[in-house]
Amino acid sequence: MTDAWIGETLYDGWQQRFRVRKELARTKSAFQDIVVFESETHGRVLVLDGVIQITEGDEFVYQEMLTHVPMLAHGDAKSVLIIGAGDGGVLRRVLQHRNVERAVMVEIDGAVIELSKQFLPGIAGDAWTDPRAEVIVGDGIDYVARAESGSVDVIIVDSTDPIGVGEVLFTDAFYEHCARILTPNGIIVNQCGVPFMQADELRETSLRRAQFFPHVSAYVAAVPTYVGGFMTLGVAAKGTNPALHPVGTIRARAEQAGILGTTGYWTPEIHAGAFNLPPYIARHLPAAK
Ligand code: SAM
Repeated sequence: MTDAWIGETLYDGWQQRFRVRKELARTKSAFQDIVVFESETHGRVLVLDGVIQITEGDEFVYQEMLTHVPMLAHGDAKSVLIIGAGDGGVLRRVLQHRNVERAVMVEIDGAVIELSKQFLPGIAGDAWTDPRAEVIVGDGIDYVARAESGSVDVIIVDSTDPIGVGEVLFTDAFYEHCARILTPNGIIVNQCGVPFMQADELRETSLRRAQFFPHVSAYVAAVPTYVGGFMTLGVAAKGTNPALHPVGTIRARAEQAGILGTTGYWTPEIHAGAFNLPPYIARHLPAAK
């Protein structure tokens, strides 16, 4: 055991810290500072610009909820676009769904992909070499601006917070393009932070998306290392409201997709229940139409 600790720099005045067993990588890419270390308690940890992104210990909570909820709310997604998510964990969960024919992942920072392959190989598993996967190193907003209209069933945005390179993924222009490239039943999801500490992220994202989508809502997941209580995942849909699917429908779709029994956090009941928001979170969403 060492006496070295790494503290997160996300909030002024409140910090989580990890005791470091071993530092594995520390570099500055063209976009951000990247650190990967082995912790005492959570396995390996990826840190970007001082903010904890993923730990081996609890990544399943976030990745399962970010992926399986929109995929099963859609019900038959064949073409999926993932933006960010350089660790590969969302790509792996998307490819678990039997019906998926094509999953394109657009990550701006090739260094995150390479370090994740080297030091966090279990997070993506075999996803990198799946023939249905196409991994592009580029800016998500450029990709959506050029993508064909009506060509994508589900868009999953696993970005950093709206500071630095991630900021463009929280703009009107980005959401407008996403609405355009989605199919008529298309769904987009993105992380909207921990509302106890980052309520603006949820409020502003929801308001922006309400300009382009008839259904805008959010659901919660308790991710231990995204400190501050529930984290919110904001969802917007062109077709059916994703918050309204009965548990039986979700279960049947999960069975068909090959997801039942593969998860550590997601279940059909948790899926349906996650849309029931505590009032301190619900008040940041626009009124349902
Ligand atoms: N799960 C983490 C969380 O919520 O804290 C985030 C995952 S991290 C892998 C997010 C990724 O988004 C980073 O690798 C970052 O490089 C990428 N990213 C940020 N801005 C981007 C952009 N404009 N286009 C594509 N990827 C972007």
